[in-house]
Amino acid sequence: MELVRESTYRYVIPPHEEMRVPAVVYTTEDLLPLLTKDEALRQLANVARLPGVVRCAVGMPDMHQGYAFPIGTVAAFDIEEGVVSPGGVGFDINCGVRVIRTSLTAPEVKRVLEEIGNILFATVPAGLGSRGLEKFSHKEARRAMKKGLGWALEKGMAVEEDLEATEEEGCLRDADPQLVSDEALDRGREEFGTLGSGNHFLEIDVVEKVFDPQKAKALGLFEGQVVIWIHTGSRGLGHQIAMDYMEKMRPRMESYGIPLFERDFVSLPVKAPQSQAYLGAMAAAANFAWVNRQLITHRVREAFSRVFRRPWDELGLFLLYDVAHNIAKYEVYEVDGAERMFLVHRKGATRAFPAGHPALRGIFREVGQPILLPGDMKRGSYVLLGTDRALKESFGSVAHGAGRQMSRHAAKKAFGFKEMQEDLAREEIRLYAVDRRRAQEEAPGAYKDVDAVVKPLVGEGLAVPVVRTRPLLVIKG
Ligand code: 5GP
Ligand code: MN
Ligand code: MN
Repeated sequence: MELVRESTYRYVIPPHEEMRVPAVVYTTEDLLPLLTKDEALRQLANVARLPGVVRCAVGMPDMHQGYAFPIGTVAAFDIEEGVVSPGGVGFDINCGVRVIRTSLTAPEVKRVLEEIGNILFATVPAGLGSRGLEKFSHKEARRAMKKGLGWALEKGMAVEEDLEATEEEGCLRDADPQLVSDEALDRGREEFGTLGSGNHFLEIDVVEKVFDPQKAKALGLFEGQVVIWIHTGSRGLGHQIAMDYMEKMRPRMESYGIPLFERDFVSLPVKAPQSQAYLGAMAAAANFAWVNRQLITHRVREAFSRVFRRPWDELGLFLLYDVAHNIAKYEVYEVDGAERMFLVHRKGATRAFPAGHPALRGIFREVGQPILLPGDMKRGSYVLLGTDRALKESFGSVAHGAGRQMSRHAAKKAFGFKEMQEDLAREEIRLYAVDRRRAQEEAPGAYKDVDAVVKPLVGEGLAVPVVRTRPLLVIKG
């Protein structure tokens, strides 16, 4: 696959074969060998072959092979001529990240870290197949899927500020829970408020470095501050919806003359009835995921409140931000000199809107949208801000994490649990894991170096770093 270096961190696969647009990859010389060791570049070139794809298919520095679209991809499609692809969203619909800030400092929290850890480990259900604390009726689950965070607000498990600090205010209006199968629904209502397993995590971090004091202050961040990261998605519900609709859409592809590059590379015209149904169900799963992260937030607030014997708002446990990294949405962009609506797919990519963007509310309209970019459980994570450049070049998007550099299988072989826990302990990081073998797959060494992944994003002006955080305590499912 020919990769032409256009600037320091921007590489291009020029259109060849049936590619309709170029594929652009943001990366560094050091990360390049990782990019070429799997099928990710070929998959990205295939995205650029889909009908109605516009401007370019974008690969982020955390890109690696996935089912259909690589993880770390952004692609936008014309609404008239373009397609929608469940494989361009991913199986974990609205997998995403939120960060809760606090007014607490590291020494204050370190004193009670074990107590907080024990409470969280006991009250936030984690692990494969774990069940939520409450089981909701089908009717209630459907209401939650329709209303998203508005439902949590109604139930007293969210405050107005939580909605303001969430992408889309935690609700895609197109959600149609009637398009969600009973099977998917059954999985969903049992998993409300669960973390899941593997890559998903709940983490207590400290802000170790402030890059931009002014922006940090505007967002309520300061050096030495304790913040909480939550990474999870729509659990079995989203997975079931993705599978249901891939099965429904695949047999229709031929009649529309759309090539099937690999089994899960399913796509149909945006206007096809099956596509519209998928988008309605996908939106329901996305809303469910926002509720899921909110219910976990509620538990985190309860845990801190219990340990510090003060209400959570007095401890400053407000939401910094919540962003999806597996989603398809209608957004407005300027392409070929005209502003229009496109269907943007982000798969393992995070929205990164700049200050002034009409989709942002409150302080975010002034400062820009926080990008939440987790690294790994040892080296830490970043909060950055979106830029105008990202809006022009990458459909207002950047990377969603450090990204894997080693398969789960290889990681399990390479890292033992005890050594990993001891290694973290030397850095004063406490690790709780439901499933030790799964935690091995998540060893820091299984991921790319987060600093290296952030470098090309900042270097090309797609994002501006605000703070870097370092883990104190990690909970893995
Ligand atoms: P994904 O959604 O693709 O599974 O993961 C998002 C990103 O989260 C990964 O690319 C990885 O960089 C990061 N990550 C995975 N596990 C952890 C963890 O335990 N702690 C932190 N801070 N980041 C993690
Ligand atoms: Mn996920
Ligand atoms: Mn994720």
